[in-house]
Parts: sequence; C-alpha cells; structure tokens
Amino acid sequence: KCSSLGNAASSEDTGSPPPIANRSDDPEACKHQPSWKPAKEHVMPKDVNHVLENTVLEMLPGPQHANTAVVKTVSLKEKFPGENILSKSFSSHSDLIPGVYEGGLKIWECTFDLLTYFTKAKVKFAGQKVLDLGCGSGLLGITASKGGAREVHFQDYNGLVIDEVTLPNVVANVPLQDDSNGKNEPDGKRQRKSEVGREICKCRLFSGEWAEFCKLVLREKLFVKYDLILTSETIYNPDYYSTLHETFLRLLSRNGRVLLASKAHYFGVGGGVHLFQKFVEEKGVFETRTLEVIDEGLKRFLMEMTFKHPS
Ligand code: SAM
Repeated sequence: KCSSLGNAASSEDTGSPPPIANRSDDPEACKHQPSWKPAKEHVMPKDVNHVLENTVLEMLPGPQHANTAVVKTVSLKEKFPGENILSKSFSSHSDLIPGVYEGGLKIWECTFDLLTYFTKAKVKFAGQKVLDLGCGSGLLGITASKGGAREVHFQDYNGLVIDEVTLPNVVANVPLQDDSNGKNEPDGKRQRKSEVGREICKCRLFSGEWAEFCKLVLREKLFVKYDLILTSETIYNPDYYSTLHETFLRLLSRNGRVLLASKAHYFGVGGGVHLFQKFVEEKGVFETRTLEVIDEGLKRFLMEMTFKHPS
C-alpha cells in the first residue's frame, strides 16, 4: 500500500510489535503485566523551527495523503547508528535504545486503513477533543487536527518516538496561525514561524504507559474527557487489554467513541480483534461495532466502541 515509504509497515513483517519489557525482577509478575513507565508531557518547544532541523521528511504517497510529510525513519537510523530501527526482527526492536520500544517508530498499516476510512466515511473532527492513543507517527491525530479538531493529544509509550517522530510530524503538518509564508511549498518544507502557532498549541504530546498517562491527565483540575479516541495496532498483546479498556473507560466522554484499527490476529503475541472484542463484551461497558473488514494480505478490522449507556 505504501511501499515507497521507508518507514511504513512491510508485508514481510510478522505484523506484530515487540512486547514491552518488564521492569519487575519477579519472572511470574513479568509474565502478564505491562511494564510500569511513568508518563510525562513533552512540552511543545517555543521555537518550532528547531524541531525540523536535521530532520529528513518525505511526502506520503497517494492522492489521499496530499501534503502530508513524515519523518524518514532512515534519518533516525543515521541519528542512532548501530540501532536496528528498520529491523524486521521484533525481538531486536526492544534493544533499540536502553529501555524498551513498542513499535511507534514506523507507520503500521492499520493507520492507513483508518485514514482511508476517515475520508470514505467523512468522519467529522470539527470541534472535537481527540486522543491519538499509541500514536507513533501521529498521523491519525494530525488528520484530526487538520480536520478542525478543537484539541488533539498524542500518546506513545516511548519518549523517543514522541521527540523524534510524532513532534516533527506534528510540526511539519499542522498549519500555523499565519500560513501565508511559503504557501506553495508542501507542508513539511514551509518556513516555520518562530512563535508556536495557534494550531500547534492545540496539540499536546505525552509518553508513558497507559495507566500512568491516565493518572497524569486526570490529575489536571480542568481535564475534559475525549470526544474521540483514535487507536491503531494497539491490541496486539492481551496482557495490556485490561489497562487499555480502563483507559477508554476513564478518558472517553460518555457520548464519545473509539475508532480502533487492528489486524485480525497478531502472530507471536497472541492478541487480535476477536480476543479483544470478547474481552470488551465480558466487561459489559462498551458496545463494539465492526465498521470494515479489509481482507487483503493480513486480514484487518476497523471497529467502533461506544458506551452501552451513554448519558
Ligand atoms: N499507532 C501507530 C501506528 O499504527 O503506526 C503505532 C502502533 S505501534 C505497533 C503500538 C503503539 O502502542 C506503540 O506506539 C506504543 O506506544 C503503544 N502502546 C502499546 N502498549 C502500550 C502500553 N501498555 N502503554 C502505553 N502505550 C502502549
């Protein structure tokens, strides 16, 4: 689908991200619990011009992604020589940088499924508060922002992903307040204004594990829940289902919805759509609805979740 793009998911992949390594020394505790990683906000730099310095951008192919520039992962490879960023062997991904890596450095194919769905179903973002959960590249949130979302939050497990991929992608694509400068250039090539633009201000970025992320945002006195949670390729590991479900429960507004994209099954990790749907059904809080089945290559699903009892 996006073969010309270096950092897009490859069909030769197993289709499964690496598991989060666990910090606990107790092997039994390690087996089923996602690791604890404190959450933090990555504050938008005052001078966004610096964000794109030493960054190589490439345009996403295809007319539906017109004017969307993304960080080329190959340039990350140059930044971190010796690290196996584009490796197809997932076990080595977790050795990327000391610590762990959950797959956010490349764009996974379900992101493209959801982007296509946004256009096809004319998904409305205007005025909404949106969360791109497990954002990686942040393309889902960026699209929501371009579509007029009131506020967009991006969350990824890894701070490195936020700093090196999500943030530059946001800066390269989210329009600035005064966009008269370089109007005919593709978004990513435009001269950025020194002050943080209004549109970029409505974007906030966070790293850390989901339960910790919830704690961090819910600590805010005036926190308002999300109207829309977008999430792609985040249900690969059944060990995280409980935290993920809790995140939806705590952060989604009663009348909001989750749009989730996933492969049918993640080989090697064991998660997938049917297992997650079963988990959600057993909890009895959310209604799930299949929006689309993409039956090419590895079978993929688009799903909607809403509260069974909205207010
Ligand atoms: N959504 C992106 C895409 O489709 O290209 C990235 C998908 S990547 C396979 C899975 C993402 O889920 C990672 O970026 C990671 O940040 C996030 N993630 C998975 N498990 C997590 C957990 N327990 N806590 C926090 N983030 C998690």
